[in-house]
Amino acid sequence: QITVGVLALQGGVIEHISLLQKAAAQLSSQSSTPTPQFSFIQVRTAAQLSQCDALIIPGGESTTMAIVARRLGLLDPLREFVKVQHKPTWGTCAGLVMLASAASATKQGGQELIGGLDVKVLRNRYGTQLQSFVGDLRLPFLEEGEPFRGVFIRAPVVEEIISSGPGTAEVDEVAKLKGNQVEVMGTYPKPQGTGEGEDIVAVRQGNVFGTSFHPELTDDVRIHTWWLKQVVEGLKSGGRDVQAQS
Ligand code: GLN
Repeated sequence: QITVGVLALQGGVIEHISLLQKAAAQLSSQSSTPTPQFSFIQVRTAAQLSQCDALIIPGGESTTMAIVARRLGLLDPLREFVKVQHKPTWGTCAGLVMLASAASATKQGGQELIGGLDVKVLRNRYGTQLQSFVGDLRLPFLEEGEPFRGVFIRAPVVEEIISSGPGTAEVDEVAKLKGNQVEVMGTYPKPQGTGEGEDIVAVRQGNVFGTSFHPELTDDVRIHTWWLKQVVEGLKSGGRDVQAQS
C-alpha cells in the first residue's frame, strides 16, 4: 500500500484527492500487472506526514500556508520529508512557491519556504485574481493528445534556475551531490509586453515536481496519473530519485 498525502492547511485539497482517486483507477486499468493499493490522506500533523510515501502541496496562498505550517510545527518536518528523505513531492501554484528555494515579489520580511527546487519563483506573475486565465499547454512528458488546459490563478512562474546559473558554485555542488539538476517540464508564452519567449511553468528536480497551474481544477487526470506512476516506479526501485525512473 502506498500512502499519498495532500497538505491540508489551506487551499485546493479535496480537488487533488478526487483527481488522485481517478488517477489511481486509471493506472490500474492501464496496467497488465497488479498495481499497488493507494490510500490518500489529508495531512495536518507531523504524525500524518510521517505515514506518507509521497505528498502534494496544493494551490492556495503560500504566505498563509507557511504561517500555519510554522504554527503547527510542520515546516521542519516538511523540509525533512522533501530534502532529507527525498520523498516524491508535487506542488501546484502556491505549492510550487513553497517548494522553491527563493521567491521574489513577496511582502516585506519575506516568507518561509520549504525548498527542494533550486529555483527562484516570481509570485503573482500574471497579476491579480481578475487576470486569471486558462491556457493551452504542450507538456512534452505527457503522451500525445489534446493540449493540457492550464488553469492559472495568481500563478507564480520560475524566473530563475539557480543551480545552473553562473557563479553559483556552492549551489551547483549541492545539486551534484543530489545527483540531479532542475529540468524544465513545461513553458508558456510570456504575456504581451513582458518580454520575448516563454515562461517556465513546470519543473522537476529529482523527487520534487512543481507546476504554476492547477491540474486539480480540471477534470483532466493525465498529470496526476503521470505523477502517481513516477511515485510507484520510484518506490519500486527503492528509489530516492524519481527522476531516474522516467
Ligand atoms: N499567489 C499565490 C501565492 O503566491 C498562489 C495562488 C494559487 O495557488 N492559486 O502563494
